[in-house]
Amino acid sequence: MRSIYVCIGCAAIYLPPETMVYPSLGMTASPAHCTQPGCAAAVREAVALSGLSEDRLGELARRAIGLEGEPRRPRLNRRATRGRRATAAPGGGRGKLR
Ligand SMILES: [Zn+2]
Repeated sequence: MRSIYVCIGCAAIYLPPETMVYPSLGMTASPAHCTQPGCAAAVREAVALSGLSEDRLGELARRAIGLEGEPRRPRLNRRATRGRRATAAPGGGRGKLR
């Protein structure tokens, strides 16, 4: 499965080639930032400040937004069922046509 990455600089979600090289740009993809020059600089700074590797920072960012690690619990289902009456059992209702 391909990894989806999140940019630490601008929070964009990106999907680099599996080879981690952009042939048209002649650049290597980073696990922590997209191709914008400002983002590359932001990550260089983050690496310098935190002492963590680019790989590790990228992993933490992916984990923080739920792209990696334990899947987030879906909230939609719970909200949809709350406050709604239970569904009637089939054949249990009093219909006029009966
Ligand atoms: Zn970016």
